[in-house]
Amino acid sequence: MDPNKSRSTYSRLVRRKLEEAKMEEILAASRIVEQDSAEGRRATIAHEMQPADQDNPILSTSSEEEMDYDATKQREDELYVIDTQSVDNRNENDVFVGAERIDITESDNCSTSSDSEIQTSLDGDEDDENSAGDDGSASSVASVDEYKKEMNNSLNSKVARIAIKHKLTHVAVNDVLRLLRELGHENVNIDARTILGTTRDRSDDSFEHFGLIRGIVKKIKHGVKSGIHNLQLQISIDGLPLFRSSTTQFWPILGRIVNCVDSRPFVISVYCGPSKPPDVNAYLSPFLEECKQLEQKTITVDRRSYRVVLKSVICDAPARSFVKQIKAHTAKFGCERCVQRGLKNHAMTFPVLNAQLRNNASFRKKTNMPHHDGTSPFTDLSIDMIHGFPLDYMHLVCIGVMRKMLLLWRGEKNTALPSSRKKRRINKNTKKAKDRIHRLSQEQLAIINERIDTTSKQFTMEFNRKGRGLDVLEHWKAVELRTFLLYSGPMVLKGVLDDEKYEHFMYFHAAIRILCSPSLTTEQIQYADTLLQYFVDQFGTIYGSYQLSYNLHSLIHLASECRFQHGPLDSFSAFPFESYLGQLKSLLRGTRRPLAQLKKRLSEIELNDTFNAEMCDGNKFNFQCIKPKSVSDSYLMIDKRQLLHVTAISQANVTGIPLSFHFQNRQRACFFEVPLKSTDLQIYIANNFHKDDDQITLPITSCKDFIKCVSLTCDEDEGKLVIFPLLHNL
Ligand SMILES: [Zn+2]
Repeated sequence: MDPNKSRSTYSRLVRRKLEEAKMEEILAASRIVEQDSAEGRRATIAHEMQPADQDNPILSTSSEEEMDYDATKQREDELYVIDTQSVDNRNENDVFVGAERIDITESDNCSTSSDSEIQTSLDGDEDDENSAGDDGSASSVASVDEYKKEMNNSLNSKVARIAIKHKLTHVAVNDVLRLLRELGHENVNIDARTILGTTRDRSDDSFEHFGLIRGIVKKIKHGVKSGIHNLQLQISIDGLPLFRSSTTQFWPILGRIVNCVDSRPFVISVYCGPSKPPDVNAYLSPFLEECKQLEQKTITVDRRSYRVVLKSVICDAPARSFVKQIKAHTAKFGCERCVQRGLKNHAMTFPVLNAQLRNNASFRKKTNMPHHDGTSPFTDLSIDMIHGFPLDYMHLVCIGVMRKMLLLWRGEKNTALPSSRKKRRINKNTKKAKDRIHRLSQEQLAIINERIDTTSKQFTMEFNRKGRGLDVLEHWKAVELRTFLLYSGPMVLKGVLDDEKYEHFMYFHAAIRILCSPSLTTEQIQYADTLLQYFVDQFGTIYGSYQLSYNLHSLIHLASECRFQHGPLDSFSAFPFESYLGQLKSLLRGTRRPLAQLKKRLSEIELNDTFNAEMCDGNKFNFQCIKPKSVSDSYLMIDKRQLLHVTAISQANVTGIPLSFHFQNRQRACFFEVPLKSTDLQIYIANNFHKDDDQITLPITSCKDFIKCVSLTCDEDEGKLVIFPLLHNL
């Protein structure tokens, strides 16, 4: 349908209605328009237009509406950037600038369909022979042809969604479409590329810029909570090896708006080549150009303006040294936080705990010249060159230190040295020889593996990877290392490690658990900082000062990251990006022209994306995650104190959720006492839940205070459970 034609028809009809309407109604309508002007007028119109009642006062605003429509279209062409600095601060009471409203007014497809809705409803009211001709027949829903066409359209889009969900190849989709055609759906399109909206771009350049502002606008369209006008942008830059048989890798620049309803990462640029991008300036240039625009301008979507602030750039140490143009983390001045000169002791070590700290000004002036390798293109932006590039806990803590400790306890697997180096095996000063002192016996390792196996069966459904034995430590993913550190480690290692090493590990466990706590206070950060300083200091004493390399040393700077980023470790970790990188990799179907493939797959996903804002409402406690019949998924904590073992959940209603549960008595025991009582971290040994079922109805409003718990059985105390509250949505 021609939108211009339908709009002119529409306005003609409305003018006639206006003439016929009574004066009082017009005045009433204009009053309503004034009241509604600030909040979701277009949504109201779109909803109200469908019945198209002749007496509907909203109709009188139609000519204004038409202007709005045109203005909106024009804004869309201007990429949503307006020149004024003023942020639209009108108080809108709606919770979300929801997808539905924007779809109606701004998306091409949907505005066409809303036109057709409007046209259809007006046709029903009026017999305008002059204009109803083409449009009228085209919009006749009753017609059999139209019905079939709609049916096929929806079939096409359904097949497209299934194909995206299950990553079907085009060949498979074509087969399905041909089958549908054979089954009588004559108008079904039999080309997978057409129904998926695959781009036909045949270029296979090594670089593609998908767009930063474009990505942000899409996320805004998925919803922003009311009252938020400053959007916080996180960037991740990392290498992604693609195939085992070659060195081909992606270097994607990913973005994520932390405080949008849809906080999933999105792709901004991708470089594809045999190693990292050869020129950092060329690689970052299109992205930084858009960042500069965002520093000066606001983005306006659906009459609300947003300022986008680049909050942090999250990378691992090698990627940070690449984009910051600094020396590698193994260099003498490799520490990104302090200016100490490293000591070569097997590897580069940084033993000093209180060296002078770097800051943004000193970095930009290059006062410590040996730290720099060039000029970072990021210095063109106003980002803090030190704290804007946080030490990411996924790489530093999980893959870095936790893995290092496990390797020390298990011992390097390939201990056999090549014959030419046999002499070094005798030399007691080699790193390997020194490390071997900390290796556990085969019996101890067997106990650890057995306990990991037992606890892995007790984790809640939120854990996708529940833990594997130390024999495959090389294949452990970052999330498995995190699970070990935050949950199972204290159980698994108890009584196996000697007391000194166990207590030392518990300092690490407690400090990271505190820094992961969603409600982190300044005092807690300070306390965790003290624990980490002690942990690093003792690491040198217990395992040798040659172990104090970059990762371990950086732990002493970790707590201050939470202070500067204003949040727990998870608010600036690489975990969401890492998982998204995995998804990107899984989109590839062969080794040929990977970037072209990625472009096609992303275009298909973008067209068929069905985002559900409800699913992402973090404040909503999801009762689907409580399974009374499952031993692992039935423990809850309320108010950080009360433990419940839920035995039944009745159907939720307006007033609340009726729960039956066993109640934990008040005498709960500590699981550990060093470095602090486990009860201070809400970790308890729980036993004797009262067996008398208690049935209460909990008001829905109290549900956000619920914390789901992981319950692991104590090895020594049969029947007792150690309860760990879940720290985050895993
Ligand atoms: Zn340092």
